[in-house]
Amino acid sequence: DKMFPRPTHRRVITVANQKGGVGKTTSAVNLAAGLALHGLRVLVIDLDPQGNASTALGVEHRSGTPSVYEVLLGEVSLAEAAQMSDQSDRLYCVPATIDLAGAEIELVSMAARESRLKEALSDEALDVLDPDYVFIDCPPSLGLLTVNAMVAAQEVLIPIQCEYYALEGLSQLLRNIELVQAHLNRSLTVSTILLTMYDGRTKLADQVTNEVRHHFGDTVLATVIPRSVKVSEAPGYGQSVLAYDPGSRGAMSYLDAAREVAERGAEAPR
Ligand code: ADP
Ligand code: MG
Repeated sequence: DKMFPRPTHRRVITVANQKGGVGKTTSAVNLAAGLALHGLRVLVIDLDPQGNASTALGVEHRSGTPSVYEVLLGEVSLAEAAQMSDQSDRLYCVPATIDLAGAEIELVSMAARESRLKEALSDEALDVLDPDYVFIDCPPSLGLLTVNAMVAAQEVLIPIQCEYYALEGLSQLLRNIELVQAHLNRSLTVSTILLTMYDGRTKLADQVTNEVRHHFGDTVLATVIPRSVKVSEAPGYGQSVLAYDPGSRGAMSYLDAAREVAERGAEAPR
């Protein structure tokens, strides 16, 4: 199959939205799988104590497994905690275990509490795995874990669910991103908005889609992810939907979205 273009520089993308259930994890995992399928090296960092991205990529994440928690504490390197997914030898995941649940509070009293993930993501640390893309899957909050993700990244990808309350909370998210830009990470941009769980049978889905496109213009990917049972079944098998049912509408949409992400990254100036 055709390779996706390699980015001009290593792209670190934080997938954030403080609302739960909007498709953060699903998008991080399936975009990562799509890019890996087409020749790129990808690392997913699971930063949610729920460990859903770890589950979806089929990597070990029982308590005690070297994970992003030990990475934040500085006890293990990113490369030591990373596990290869069985879907692709180009797709890696740093898992989250339940040990991360306490980190939000433990971090408060730590030195450089906002930039511990950034430290762990240094060029030297990443050169071992040499990913073209790093996706950081955030928990559904705007706490210190999400701040760490925003400080460590150059880009934020916001999944928006095509539903009634989709835009609620978005201004709060954008305000937090601005605060991080102003005080902690000048180079952070909201590069990508992805519309998820689109249900073509409802008028509402189209209204939300139009409103988001009106508001955010070209930041919104042309590809919209449909609501599809296959997408929700795949994690139960420790797989991305691209591995679970490659011909499904959900898989093809995530592959299209991954292609768009890759093509944008290739065009972006350094
Ligand atoms: P978040 O990480 O933002 O909390 P998830 O990615 O875990 O959201 O998605 C929430 C739930 O919706 C999960 O059960 C997931 O399997 C399901 N889901 C996500 N995207 C789709 C989709 N396109 N079609 C059907 N179900 C989906
Ligand atoms: Mg999640």
